[in-house]
Amino acid sequence: MKKKNKKLDILMILTIIAGVLVLGAAGTLIGLEAGRLQTEVDMAKAERVAKKSAADSGVSAAVAESGLSDSNLTESIDPEAAAMALAATGDVIRGAAVAAIPNVSEYADAVQNGNLVTPIPRNSLENAGTGENPTEGNGFIVCIDAGHETNQITDLEPNGPGSENMKQGVTSGTQGEWSGVYEYQVNLDVTLKLRDALTSRGYTVVLCREINDVTMSNVQRAQIASDANADIFLRIHCNSSDSSSVDGVLCYAPTSSNPYLSEEVIERSQALSRIMRDSQCEETGQEALDNLYQDDMTGINWAKMPVTIVEMGFMSNYEEDMFLTSEDGQDQIVRGLANGVDEYFSQYGKMEAAE
Ligand SMILES: [Zn+2]
Repeated sequence: MKKKNKKLDILMILTIIAGVLVLGAAGTLIGLEAGRLQTEVDMAKAERVAKKSAADSGVSAAVAESGLSDSNLTESIDPEAAAMALAATGDVIRGAAVAAIPNVSEYADAVQNGNLVTPIPRNSLENAGTGENPTEGNGFIVCIDAGHETNQITDLEPNGPGSENMKQGVTSGTQGEWSGVYEYQVNLDVTLKLRDALTSRGYTVVLCREINDVTMSNVQRAQIASDANADIFLRIHCNSSDSSSVDGVLCYAPTSSNPYLSEEVIERSQALSRIMRDSQCEETGQEALDNLYQDDMTGINWAKMPVTIVEMGFMSNYEEDMFLTSEDGQDQIVRGLANGVDEYFSQYGKMEAAE
């Protein structure tokens, strides 16, 4: 019994030793596997960063080649901040993967170039066109139409409900004389920014288009505003003149005898046009030109609510072309236009439900 017990004891000790050895080996294997996974993650990250770096330098080269300053288009990178980011992430790389990673130098280059410290813009298409407002709404619905599109629609459509005067579905718009940027792009840039600004102020915003490659006539755009039950319809455009010295902001409004719109819609459209022009100019310092009163604008004639066409500036004028195509200029315009929307609703509120 005693002898047998001793044998058992030895067996048990051997079993325990073997168990410890097996566990140790397994632990090492798990550790190695974890390290390998981490290394793969780092390599994939480094590859993404390197690709982004290459893409960014491609953009910079294109901008440089076009002779444009990109100071307004891309955020400038502070080299000191980039160096600090390199030092910080360098430690992380060494700690995460002891094995040499061939892509580390590429990764480090990307960091040094500042690409890692470039903030990722939030998806500007979030909630787009859904009419959904994540914050508490103020009850007002704004429809914004970014004027024009990459295509143009040559098919004709009635200039107003029941009109025999036919006009082109949508024209191609103008182009920056100096920037080369198309008007439809500026209109969309400002529209998306204005959507964000108004949404954060509590408005429900509906857009006619969120991309350039659409086929959408002016009647269809007005229909979107009607379907959305919008309280106002803002049509965003840029102007152009044969004379490069002409600059300033103006809005199009219906005349007091517009045959398609109710008296109330006309009056409010005229007020909206004054307010939007003045509000933009107050924020940007641009000159306020005389608004134009015309009854041949299809998108106005088909509207069922107060409507205006905001001509934000002249792409045929050097300063305004540069201003309209710059981030800073667009941000100023958007603040002005958003202030104008606030001003309009504080003065006029909602219109009584139409017929
Ligand atoms: Zn236009």
